Amino acid sequence: MSFDGAPQRRQAICKSCEQEYPFITAFVRVEQESSSAIVYAACHGHEPEPEAWLDVVLGPFSGPDFADNVTFSCRVRSTGATLVEGPVAAEGRVHYFGCMLSPEQARSHPSGGQAWEIVTFVATNEPTLRAWIGS
Ligand SMILES: [Zn+2]
Repeated sequence: MSFDGAPQRRQAICKSCEQEYPFITAFVRVEQESSSAIVYAACHGHEPEPEAWLDVVLGPFSGPDFADNVTFSCRVRSTGATLVEGPVAAEGRVHYFGCMLSPEQARSHPSGGQAWEIVTFVATNEPTLRAWIGS
């Protein structure tokens, strides 16, 4: 697993508390698979413990409808990750999200294991995200 180009970072502003936070977009190459992933990470939360909100879009990225893509959403803390209802980081409904998985669907999805590997890879290797959640 590797980044496909350097992850992109920009400052975003939270709509509910108006605080500025780093927003990361990372393209991830999944070795020996026909699929790849885009990870959107918001380094911002409203809990005392730092947490990041991630949308992971995984699939072949074949248009025009990207129906074979799936999107997992989760909340990541230093103590671990939790599946949540998405999207949580990317704004609006991005056309290549494919099937937005609920936490229940994500748990039983065949790509679930790979999605967690991607989350772990990005949380470990993207310096801003790693520093934020303190992993
Ligand atoms: Zn906020």
